[in-house]
Amino acid sequence: MAKETSEIRLISPYAEGQRWLRGNLHTHTTFSDGKRTPEAVIKDYENRGYDFLAISDHDVFVKPDKYQRMTQMTLIPGVEVSANGPHILHVNAQTLVPPHENRQQVLDEISAQPESFAVLNHPNWLAPLPDLHFSHERMRSLTGYAGIEIYNGVIERLPGIPLATDQWDLLLSKGHRVWGFGHDDSHDVQDVELAWNVVQSHDRRGGPIVAALREGRFYVSTGVEIQSVRIKDRHIVILTNNAMRIRFISRWGVIRHTMDSQAAEFIIPDDPNVRDWMYIRMECYGPRGSMAWTQPIWIEAG
Ligand SMILES: [Zn+2]
Ligand SMILES: [Zn+2]
Repeated sequence: MAKETSEIRLISPYAEGQRWLRGNLHTHTTFSDGKRTPEAVIKDYENRGYDFLAISDHDVFVKPDKYQRMTQMTLIPGVEVSANGPHILHVNAQTLVPPHENRQQVLDEISAQPESFAVLNHPNWLAPLPDLHFSHERMRSLTGYAGIEIYNGVIERLPGIPLATDQWDLLLSKGHRVWGFGHDDSHDVQDVELAWNVVQSHDRRGGPIVAALREGRFYVSTGVEIQSVRIKDRHIVILTNNAMRIRFISRWGVIRHTMDSQAAEFIIPDDPNVRDWMYIRMECYGPRGSMAWTQPIWIEAG
């Protein structure tokens, strides 16, 4: 009897032969409620070896032009749209988008700015006032955002959970193709270098970095370094520098495969049900609780 097989194709955001650049897109300074000046913040990130940084103060557009002279890092213009509702990160902002109570209007105005994109911030922050963080229902009701924060560093010292991969898997599983972002949301020195995005780009300029972010060519890290993510037919191969465990996760957060090693391979089984898996994303666990999260690799009918 002929076995029923499934023709699928894997779609990966990752590319070959690129450099990895590391950066934070969610940073506060004395222009809003941050404790340090932009100069001090920029110097700090530069000293830690970051390649790019966005200053994203609450409803204040801090133009990076005047600070670009003082640093080798690429400064990307940003704002955190904050008043009147849950916070939205506006990356590569050209002008300030007003904090309309109607958050869909905020997202539409961000989308209207060329090469800008929006990230829904800290969904698992237990904010002191309701409505400062996104409920799952609210995120589901909105469209036109590139992703959500799956790790927000400052929540390590605030009520709530820095990690939001639960929210991410729910959105992905319900058909929202959104990327996961990792940010410090730094307000003071103790918040710096808690979580970052590592982008695949051969070019250090802002345009190519932003393009790579929009296309999902990056991973999120709190300390694990990924060397490469490659796909061939039904194989997914991931190489890291320091993972001790790697997990392959599909729709609804189901763990399909775990390997206790620095590198791992997973072959998607030839089974008609794998189409329902929808995606595979990888979580890497490293020393001292460090982690890394890849973007989803989509599973589509062949
Ligand atoms: Zn916020
Ligand atoms: Zn913030």
